[in-house]
This record gives sequence, structure tokens and C-alpha cells, in this order.
Amino acid sequence: MALNVLSVASEAVPLVKTGGLADVVGALPAAVAPYGVAMTTLVPGYPSVMAAIGKARTIHRYDNLLGQPARLVAAKLGEHPLIVLDAPNFFARDGGPYAGPDGKDWADNWRRFAALGRAAADLAGGLVKARRFDLVHAHDWQAAMALAYLRFAPVKDSKPVPSVMTIHNMAFQGYFGREVFKELGLPRSAWKFDGVEYHGGVGMLKAGMEAASVITTVSPTYAQEIRDAEFGMGLEGLVVSRGDRVRGIVNGIDPAEWDPANDRHLSANYTSRTLGKRVANKRALEADFGLEPGDGPLFIVVSRLTWQKGMDVLLEVLDHLVGIGGRLALLGSGDAAMESEFRAAATRHPGKIGVRIGYDEALSHRMQGGGDAILVPSRFEPCGLTQLYGLAYGCVPVVARTGGLADTVIDANLAAREAGTATGIQFSGLDYPTLAAAVSRTVALYHQPDQWKAVQRNGMKADFTWKNSGKVYAELYHELTGPR
Ligand code: ADP
Repeated sequence: MALNVLSVASEAVPLVKTGGLADVVGALPAAVAPYGVAMTTLVPGYPSVMAAIGKARTIHRYDNLLGQPARLVAAKLGEHPLIVLDAPNFFARDGGPYAGPDGKDWADNWRRFAALGRAAADLAGGLVKARRFDLVHAHDWQAAMALAYLRFAPVKDSKPVPSVMTIHNMAFQGYFGREVFKELGLPRSAWKFDGVEYHGGVGMLKAGMEAASVITTVSPTYAQEIRDAEFGMGLEGLVVSRGDRVRGIVNGIDPAEWDPANDRHLSANYTSRTLGKRVANKRALEADFGLEPGDGPLFIVVSRLTWQKGMDVLLEVLDHLVGIGGRLALLGSGDAAMESEFRAAATRHPGKIGVRIGYDEALSHRMQGGGDAILVPSRFEPCGLTQLYGLAYGCVPVVARTGGLADTVIDANLAAREAGTATGIQFSGLDYPTLAAAVSRTVALYHQPDQWKAVQRNGMKADFTWKNSGKVYAELYHELTGPR
């Protein structure tokens, strides 16, 4: 019999997405299915989710879930079971999953996501008789309270279930004031340094990390990095104390969504053997961004525009990039000051730099299919997906050597090129000279077409689909649930 796993998250492709978390949560059920795992996903009922599932069957009604009426409805995520927490007072709002139209976080985020966690713990405790779960897998702070409820306030007489807490980004911890504790419905015993208390307030990610049977993060290098203050962001001590209960499992990409041979968004589909066809995508991209054709590489960026992503340093390097014959097409949104600086750079370099502020999934595919190189100069990067898409699409990744970027891209140094393993450009330490040098190296490599093509092909052959990581997650679930 298959192992029943409840995966809990605040985002899942194709229903709702603000970042890589959604890609992973959406792909995981299919990734683990071949290894004897039946995964059900639980997500909040935002407007986009409710619209997508249409009329769905109610499997439980709450009169009062963290202060609001709610119901659990059964639907499908692709071919896999989905449960949606429909709580209109929490989730039926204009704006994003975490913030209102003004960009400010919802003031009751602690309550909204505690409700998600409570519902998950109830489901795991047998709330709905027909649905039994052997293990709960919580993603990020928004789902972390599921594990705190399982630990401190499980459904009466339910048997304990093992759990996995995956950290997709340590920078987001779900930290709230002390006053919210009494509203969470947890016993006083949960208020302790190895419970939900954190620096005098409530730490939701921290509470999940304390309660989890195993903590995972999304690359082996990041799993190491978060043991240090620079990356652990205050939780490094807890990471170290959990020892070998902290593992790194690199994300995969979903070939149903990301495969240049079948991508419906591209003008021309291609494989590693028909790279020449990419040129049609490149021309379309140039037209889209108002760029002049040129001899140098067309760099792309698809990113949140934030300090984490190194976008401030990229801004400094743009004049150099254009000066040595590069062009740039950038798609992103985030920090308002950065958005206007990128717009200003496009005005300063007409025909050389094109900027699209916003979020556009289809365009992001066309950029990977037509760009020559994708820049990912992150200060830290738990895994990173855009470099994986770049590898799969022959859009050579130019990345900082950190986290998942270090684990997934092989630098095109002489040795790697001779060995036929190079897949991109890496640089260490993010500042103007290192990023400018990496851009220069990329331009130089681009002007050696045979070498460039080899790097593109190597990247396209590297297998970052879910095949490998799906197996590793499934093995972890089996390990934690024991012989059956
Ligand atoms: P993070 O989750 O930290 O933002 P990742 O690289 O793990 O970074 O995942 C980002 C995901 O969001 C990728 O699928 C990327 O293509 C997508 N993305 C980021 N910004 C945009 C945008 N402006 N438009 C479309 N897709 C975007």
C-alpha cells in the first residue's frame, strides 16, 4: 500500500505562485508517486485557487478555525489529490498571498497561516475519516505551524505522525509578537525556547524546525551554509543542534512545464541537437523588448528584484555589460527603487537594455528559450530554479557560487571544458569586479561558438528533472515511517 503524505504549503503551481516554492510543491506529488508515495496537497483558498477548482466537494466544515468559519474542500492538483482550506475571511482578498494591493504584508498573516497549520494537523490526526496520513510535509513558515500543532495540540487520541519541514528560504521566518501566542490555541507548554518561543515572540519556522522529525532544505550546499550566521539568519544554532536531522535535497524542474522541445510558449521548439532553431526565439525576444540585434550575447534576468538576488550589483555592472557588446532583457518585480533604476538603465541604453517590470510566466519561458545567458548573481540562493531552466533551455547560467547555484552549475574553466563537463559560468563573492569579470568571461566564451555550443549542450544534458530528487524525498518518507 502506498504511503499517504500530506504536503502543506502556501503556494502550488498551477494554482498560485510567487516563487520557486510553488514550482516545487506543484511538482512533488508526481515526483514521488513512482516510489510508493500518494501525496495530497493542502493549500489556502485564495481567489485564484477557488476559481481554478470550480465546484468542489466539502469534506469538513469548521464553525471556528482560529476565529473564522472555514471548510475543507477536495479537488485535484493535476492528477493528484488536493485539499483546499476555504476560509473567505482569511483568503478571499485582492492582492497577493501574503500582502495586500499596497504591497504591505497582511496584519493577520500569523492567524491566516496558523489556520492552515491547524487544518493540516487536524487532517493528519484523522479529522476526515476517509483520509489517513502517515506523514506531514510542511513547506516554509506558512505551513510550519502544522508541526507545532501536531506536537503540542494534536487531535485527541490520534497517533503521532512523523514530519518533514522543508526550508525553501531561511530569510522568511514568520516571526510575530508575543501577543499572538494566546490566540493560537496552543497549550502553555508550547511557550518555551525549544517550542514556539523565539526571541520573546512567536517564531513559526523555528517552531516547525523544532518539531520536525527531519528538516530539509533545497540544496546540499545551502544545508551547510545555514549552519553559519551569515546564512542561518539567527537559526544557525538550531540547525547545528539538529545535526544529521538536517538534509539538503536539490529541487528538480518539471519537464511537463519546462522542456524546450515541447514548450508551447516558444516560437520555435528545439533540442540540444537543433540549437540553431533558438535564433527564431531570440529574434522574437529582441522584438518583444525593443532590442537591436547584435554580435554579443543577449543576457536575460528573470527574478525578484531584491538585495538577495544581487540586483543592486547587477545595476552597477550594466554599463560594463553594454560596453563590451552585451545586451540585456530583464523581467522582474520587487523593490520599488530597483524597479525604477532598471527602467532608468533601459532609457540610458535604448536598444541594448529592455526591462519589463511585472510577473509574466509565458514571457519567462520565451526568455529562457531565446536568451543566450541567464544572470543569477544571488547573495544567497537556497536552490534557485531559473538557472535550472537556463540549463535545460541552453541559456547558459552565469551564477554566484552559493547554495543551489554552486551545486547545479559547473564552471567553464579550462579543466571542465576539456573534460566536457562545463555548463555555465560561476564567480565567487558578489561585488562589482567579480560580476563584471564574470560578464566579460561570458562574452569572451560566446565569441568562441564551438566552446559556447558545447557548454549549452552539456547543460541541456544535465538531468535536473525530478527523477533523482523525487526518489530521495520518497526514501526519506519511507525512512521516517519505518517498515510497513
Ligand atoms: P525565488 O523562489 O527565490 O524567487 P527561484 O529561482 O527558486 O527564486 O524561483 C523563482 C521562480 O519564479 C522561477 O520559476 C522563475 O521563473 C519565476 N519568476 C521570478 N520572477 C518572475 C517574473 N517576474 N515573471 C515570471 N516568472 C518569474
